[in-house]
Amino acid sequence: MVDLRSQYELIKTEVDQAIQEVIDTTAFINGPQVKEFSIALAAYTGAKYVITCGNGTDALQIAMMGLDFQPGQEVIVPAFTYVATAEVIALLGLKPVFIDVVPDTYELDITQLESKITPKTAGIVPVHLYGQCSNMEAILAIAQKHNLKVIEDTAQAIGAKYTFSDGTVKQAGTMGDVGTTSFFPSKNLGCYGDGGAMFTNDAELAEKLHMIANHGQKKKYHHHIVGVNSRLDTLQAAILKVKLQHLDRYSASRNAVADTYDQAFAGHAHLKIPVRAANSTHAFHQYTIQVAGISRDKLKSYLAEKGVPSMVYYPLPLHQQEAYLDLGFKKGDFPVAESLCENVLSLPIHTEMKSEDQDYIIETIKSFFK
Ligand SMILES: *Cc1c(COP(=O)(O)O)cnc(C)c1O
Repeated sequence: MVDLRSQYELIKTEVDQAIQEVIDTTAFINGPQVKEFSIALAAYTGAKYVITCGNGTDALQIAMMGLDFQPGQEVIVPAFTYVATAEVIALLGLKPVFIDVVPDTYELDITQLESKITPKTAGIVPVHLYGQCSNMEAILAIAQKHNLKVIEDTAQAIGAKYTFSDGTVKQAGTMGDVGTTSFFPSKNLGCYGDGGAMFTNDAELAEKLHMIANHGQKKKYHHHIVGVNSRLDTLQAAILKVKLQHLDRYSASRNAVADTYDQAFAGHAHLKIPVRAANSTHAFHQYTIQVAGISRDKLKSYLAEKGVPSMVYYPLPLHQQEAYLDLGFKKGDFPVAESLCENVLSLPIHTEMKSEDQDYIIETIKSFFK
């Protein structure tokens, strides 16, 4: 699905040097590269503050702690997403309130949003799934009207740009109260282990998020609030600093791969190519098609036999996951999420895709229908 080895080979000299520098100085925790990377990422995204942490799941948890979500309160989250989004809600004693998604763009269905809001609602977590921004203009307007916080889960959409109706352009993760992201190796900006970050434009909140990620301390051994231990390793920050300089090229490569798939499958009777959202660019973390009228799983096994990997993100919606059954939802409650779980198929997409490899993938997919 991804080719991290070829990606590394192309930047080996820079990465190796950055790693060696960290080892030479032995500043493995909170070395200068951590701050340098935060500043570079803030400049890249346009966020005023970037607070790094241990991974994208921690980023979501720290964001909710920083925004003072209280146990018993409700958080609205799409039923079709990676489990991390709901997991931290449950861990903090909050209640995940699922909402169905839009079949074309996979974002939470804003037409259902207000019906999910109760006096207990603390916030909304839109997920920019596969690489496109959710309809942030509508979400922010509803959040403002009801005095709710917005945490954008930007783990799959770093670098995607959203255009508001007044022409303002903002990057994924910088529009809500907090944006969260992950540097898991296969993410669009991936490190060589675990890593994560939060974005915010609020100075006071930035300080609080930083404190929570560091045991709630302002000054070493002075703990103001209950926090966690969630740090980005210096080694990972050094690697990310190098890779950030290549992110625009990475996004362009992903988009070129996506365009080629689009051309190959546009108008196909059984394969629906990704719909491009009107107001967002696409970071193409995943190139996800929908399979119609034939068995998605048969196509997937056929491809596997021919040496073409493909993945199902995600095979089961959150409300049907065993861990969340006690919330009382049942099959049929979120029909779009449920049908997507049966129809979506993500194809290989990465920054160093060779055209002959992609041709083979396309020909193999087409040969299934012959
Ligand atoms: C990857 C991902 C996360 C979690 O990131 P980790 O760094 O693996 O904790 C959260 N949300 C979404 C949508 C993701 O894709």
